[in-house]
Amino acid sequence: MPKTINMMVGKNLHWLLVLGGTAILLIVISILPHDAEATRTPDFTASQPAPPKKTGLKIPSRPDNKAEQLASTPEAPGQWKTATVKSGDNLSLLFQRNNLSPQELYKVTSNKIAAKQFKRLFPGDEIRLRIDVNKLTELSYEFDLGKSLHMIRNEDSFDTKIIERPLEYRTAQATATINDSLFLSAQSAGLSDKLTMELAGIFGWDIDFALDIRQGDNFAVIYEEVFLDGEKVRDGNIVAASFSNRGKSFQAIRYTDSNQHTDYYSSDGHSMRKAFLRTPVDFSRISSRFNLKRKHPVLNRIRAHKGVDYAAKRGTPIKATGDGKIVHRGKKGGYGNTVIIQHGSTYSTLYAHMSNYARGIRSGSRVKQGQIIGYVGSSGLATGPHLHYEFRVNGSVRNPLTVKLPDAQPLPKKFLADFKQQSNQLIVSLNLLNQTNIALASN
Ligand SMILES: [Zn+2]
Repeated sequence: MPKTINMMVGKNLHWLLVLGGTAILLIVISILPHDAEATRTPDFTASQPAPPKKTGLKIPSRPDNKAEQLASTPEAPGQWKTATVKSGDNLSLLFQRNNLSPQELYKVTSNKIAAKQFKRLFPGDEIRLRIDVNKLTELSYEFDLGKSLHMIRNEDSFDTKIIERPLEYRTAQATATINDSLFLSAQSAGLSDKLTMELAGIFGWDIDFALDIRQGDNFAVIYEEVFLDGEKVRDGNIVAASFSNRGKSFQAIRYTDSNQHTDYYSSDGHSMRKAFLRTPVDFSRISSRFNLKRKHPVLNRIRAHKGVDYAAKRGTPIKATGDGKIVHRGKKGGYGNTVIIQHGSTYSTLYAHMSNYARGIRSGSRVKQGQIIGYVGSSGLATGPHLHYEFRVNGSVRNPLTVKLPDAQPLPKKFLADFKQQSNQLIVSLNLLNQTNIALASN
């Protein structure tokens, strides 16, 4: 099961004693306050779950300030009920279902603070309504973790405030040796599927989790857990992790620099990411490999196949494999509808046979890694819908499946000293976790 700080120290105590090092104990303790710091960081990719927003707490917390308790002031008459937002719902429909008139709706939505929170409702959201004979007297809505909108009737309008309860972050850890699948081993080590996915995402640039995982591979993870009123509400970010795959070890440390840029770096400050995605389409299969002596399927004569073909359904999104500038967007002979992206001075990538270009994609526009640039089709000389993808280094074609991809931007030099200071302590704990895991496994 996931271990909180206290349990972590308790669990490790045995091993600390075995190792006989009180110095190590001091190091473990000394990293703990830093982990709390790491939580105040923005997210580094859209695909990662957003960490809780750390806005200033305008309302001081009280020991028992659950929104509902605050909301249940004796002067507001009526009965409380919980209305759950359904798919395709809005506040108007929800009010109708609870026999509240359009006038009541108007009184709520004409309040600016409330209108902002009700702009986007999500299925499953719960809105607490206190109703006294078809008249809304009070409303409470937790729109974000620990943040509630509270409205109480004051004659024909509502007094409104946002109540915030502070989130608390604790550090937890997990370690395992893989003997079946990554997911099963991670599960028995107490990691949620979400954290396991994130772990695979961090190391996914170096390790192919579909093909490379072997029995005996092992990992260690230090991560955050988010608590509200003493109860765990969800997992937070992975703070540091190591993964040993077929005898090769990788370590990743989460770091936020003073420009609020967050990324995972190896212990020497290299980004864990690469400057290029290996594959520009999800949900595809390779239908033709890079082969400079291939017989062309349409022309039926020897003609180099200078890229990789990914068979995918017509309309499948095609992603830019790296940041860059579009230098060609249009028809290009047998390539059909084609986009060419220049990435710095050394690299370029080509995407052919598109059915359509993505909106806003034109010559000269800048694109980000992973941005959709067009859709799979069969324009030009193609037997069926597929993406033909080429990777060039200084103008010469290379096999996109095997070319050594350059690293993404390393940590800027000016942050390196600060990074080392923070990461050293985390690396010590990762190593300690690994030792514990290996010692346990050999018992
Ligand atoms: Zn091709």
